[in-house]
Amino acid sequence: MRRRHFLAAALGGAGSLARPAAAARPRDRRSYAEIQGVNAATLDGLLGERGENWRPWQWIVVHHTAAEHASLEGIDRYHRVHFGDPLGAEYHFVINNGRRRALGLIEPARWRYQELAAHLFHPERAPESLALCLIGNFEERPVPASMMDALALLCRRLMGTLEIPIERVTTHRAVDGRLTQCPGRHFDLDDLRARIVGRVDE
Ligand SMILES: [Zn+2]
Repeated sequence: MRRRHFLAAALGGAGSLARPAAAARPRDRRSYAEIQGVNAATLDGLLGERGENWRPWQWIVVHHTAAEHASLEGIDRYHRVHFGDPLGAEYHFVINNGRRRALGLIEPARWRYQELAAHLFHPERAPESLALCLIGNFEERPVPASMMDALALLCRRLMGTLEIPIERVTTHRAVDGRLTQCPGRHFDLDDLRARIVGRVDE
């Protein structure tokens, strides 16, 4: 969540991300075991080897939507319309929470364009940063273990291909300090780092 999200939230505008589409879509009921296979195939395809046109990415920054019913399409539309950004979502990847899409499903977003995202108040503190967004409000509830595992997998694959050290895997609030609580008070960076190096088995 970046500055304009913050302002929109203060004005009540962020509700448009939280509102489901007019007709409720059927929930994706694939299990996380099935989704793990889907995620592995997605990441093999995208991150198998370094692309010639890739940016020199240096940081990985974790966000949340602060809205439980967000979807990549909704975020894309919201950022296009409200921020006038033709590339849509200001996140490189999103991880779903089981409400609109399957729990733990990783979807590439701005990554495909190899463009920076406007996702920080102080981008100079984390230059060439990738924005990974958890769908959900983790100010209100803990991050499901499946989402943490999917996030750790994504981080591990990005770190490997891009040669990013674990010290440069961080959170929005760690970069921007008091300006934001994103990705929510329940998000535990130490737990993410432990999962990345394989110290958590669940
Ligand atoms: Zn954020």
